[in-house]
Amino acid sequence: MTELLRIENLKKYFPVRKVVKDNYFNFRGRGRRAEFWWFALISTIFSLITVASGFKVIYIIFHLAIFFPSITISIRRLHDTGKTGWLLALLIIPVIGWIVILVFLCSDSTPGENRYGPKPEGYSGLLRRIKAHVKAVDGVSFSISEKETLGLVGESGCGKTTIGRTILKLLEPTDGLIEYRQEDITQLNSNQMRPLRRKLQIIFQDPYASLNPRMTVGKIIREGLDIHNIGEKKERDAMVAEVLERVGLPRNILDRYPHEFSGGQRQRVGIARALILNPEFIVCDEAISALDVSIQAQIINLLADLKEEYGIAYLFIAHDLSVVEHISDRVAVMYLGKIVELAKTSELFSNPLHPYTKALLSSVPKPDPTLQQERIVLQGDVPSPIAPPAGCSFHPRCPLAVKGLCDTKEPLTVDSDGHQFACHVVEEELFAPPDASA
Ligand code: SF4
Repeated sequence: MTELLRIENLKKYFPVRKVVKDNYFNFRGRGRRAEFWWFALISTIFSLITVASGFKVIYIIFHLAIFFPSITISIRRLHDTGKTGWLLALLIIPVIGWIVILVFLCSDSTPGENRYGPKPEGYSGLLRRIKAHVKAVDGVSFSISEKETLGLVGESGCGKTTIGRTILKLLEPTDGLIEYRQEDITQLNSNQMRPLRRKLQIIFQDPYASLNPRMTVGKIIREGLDIHNIGEKKERDAMVAEVLERVGLPRNILDRYPHEFSGGQRQRVGIARALILNPEFIVCDEAISALDVSIQAQIINLLADLKEEYGIAYLFIAHDLSVVEHISDRVAVMYLGKIVELAKTSELFSNPLHPYTKALLSSVPKPDPTLQQERIVLQGDVPSPIAPPAGCSFHPRCPLAVKGLCDTKEPLTVDSDGHQFACHVVEEELFAPPDASA
């Protein structure tokens, strides 16, 4: 099969900022203790400077900008606690304030560690400074062939949706390579991406939030045709009617609004919107999670039929492993921003190698009550993607973790006849030299 999409070492980090600004303007909220003292200090300083400067305009402007939020927070705190600390705060000597500010500024610009680990690049500035990065996707590689469905599974927050959106350039990747039909699209801007948008589409998880409530169904579906200037008006109407029929909706709903439909019907509208441009690849981002079970079955069958009919490739992101098993040709398992195992669907479900995949599969209920099922219950929570554990990121929860190895050395992805996994122990078991004494 021809390769359609190739992802190489893809990374997407989100900066974690200290948002002083939000507390500053959040008059309804309760000012945090640190913020309260901070504002109180600065307002004291500017009050004194304003007086000392003979009320020059610039100082009065600064004074007003700092003083009123400070008073608002102080009053709020007084109201919440009944304490009179704010009065005391306004009497603090301005010099102490300047020392605090200097220490604050210096500590921001020095490299080193904070409580999240090493400080990231761009760690500077007073407001909205970057404290750390959420490593939502951290070095992911895979490819998808024409007419292939790659299932992507993993716990909530492991980076599945971020991968889908980054591939489509709805989010800018931090690093890595995205190729579409051997063309590098990683650095393309939104104008350069526009022709490709016809070929790369997405179906969103929430059929209630993903449709504009102010637009009729007809306008929602034909919007792509209008943007890409495809066909004359009559042709567009015909194309919209045709695609509606294909997804199982009547033609007479064009002038109705999304709120007039059920969840399943709305998701069909979302599918019609993705299909109208005749795409080659669709990211189905939890496309059935918000639907009830009977509607889920209809939508899955519809997606499978469309794949057969139009030769579409899917990245199928889902939680439900039985659905993924049903629809996917290959399955990738994600944990904390990395792919830990990737194999053909039948191979992965019959012979999972990675301990995390085994635990995940053990949670799928079997329809046969006579089958004895051993459930692997993982201990602890998923670590924070801001500061993932050293070595193998699964080691704090892994029943097979080897001290001194798994907590220090990150496992590399190994390919065993198309079955990829990243685990020291499995690698040793599979590739251990035959025992000479046997
Ligand atoms: S590398 Fe170690 S900690 Fe990670 S999955 Fe394998 S055995 Fe578990």
